[in-house]
Amino acid sequence: MPVESITPEYRQEEAVASALLPHYDRHARTLPWRMPPGSAQSPDPYRVWLSEIMLQQTTVAAVIPYFEKFMARWPDVAALARADTGEVMAAWAGLGYYARARNLIACARMVTDELGGRFPDTEDGLRGLPGVGAYTAAAVAAIAFDRRAVVVDANVERVVARLFAIEMPLPQARTAIRDAADAITPSTRAGDFAQAMMDLGSGICTVKAPQCLLCPLQSGCAARASGLAEAYPVKPPKKEKPSREGIVWWLEREDGHVWIERRADKRMLGGMTGLPATQWDARGKAGGGEPPVPGPWLTLNRTVEHVFTHFRLTLSVQRLLVGVDCRPAKKGQWWPLSRIGEAGLPSLFAKVAGLMQGTTE
Ligand code: SF4
Repeated sequence: MPVESITPEYRQEEAVASALLPHYDRHARTLPWRMPPGSAQSPDPYRVWLSEIMLQQTTVAAVIPYFEKFMARWPDVAALARADTGEVMAAWAGLGYYARARNLIACARMVTDELGGRFPDTEDGLRGLPGVGAYTAAAVAAIAFDRRAVVVDANVERVVARLFAIEMPLPQARTAIRDAADAITPSTRAGDFAQAMMDLGSGICTVKAPQCLLCPLQSGCAARASGLAEAYPVKPPKKEKPSREGIVWWLEREDGHVWIERRADKRMLGGMTGLPATQWDARGKAGGGEPPVPGPWLTLNRTVEHVFTHFRLTLSVQRLLVGVDCRPAKKGQWWPLSRIGEAGLPSLFAKVAGLMQGTTE
């Protein structure tokens, strides 16, 4: 998007930053990974990187307790690099998108073993780390190292699409939005500017009912002038998510234990602790897989539903009660039901456990 086509008010260099940064200085959100604006101390790149990885496709509210748990347990990159993989995966359980956790460990080990314990301080250098894509590299470069970088997350995307009333629908509009964001990114305080835009999108320029009267950018906002702020960014027509089905096996021992397994790395939720289950076949039918032991499995009349990014999954649940001498041939372990909350089950299997504990009471 050529700079000339943006709102006249904001054509002047750094006009958006001049309007936004004083507002940020007064109203910045307090977040555990963030330094307050104007702080003499530089942000810790480890905290910034960890928060940005956790925040990928996840809300701030969901991330805060995980971030605090990780910092208490692994306070610096060297500690995380030394951590046991299974413990990190278990600590990540519930946050979703588990490839992030595997990359997190790989990245911490690379920084510690190959880079002398220091994160690269440029976007290009950061892009070379496992799990760090274009967005995360820009965010860490700007926030941790105050490099001028164009940081466009979902909140910033919305603010920019509205400021310039970009008519093209997503996802095609992403290039125009990025160009417009580039045109308004200042050469100083780039980290504060990125965080200020994120805060604006999260607290004022919200998806529904943006509070334009409180917005420091209202005077030059094209969407506000059109009276159609909520209509931006323009969405593509909605597609239904495909459905998949599968079976999960709840193998319970009469002394109050349930059989759990570590999922194979290449499967969905790979490396996480799970309940035995079939593959989730992409063609909408229950896929392959055998129950952990043969027997008269009872199919419950309730199912567990879970929505992944690209599909909806419906799992039917089969249950079998066995004696204390039962020994499945597959790798796994008997876990006490009284401590099922500590097993590190991702949300899908935690739902199954919740259902079973409700039905077995
Ligand atoms: Fe968003 Fe309204 Fe501010 Fe425009 S004026 S950026 S639509 S809150």
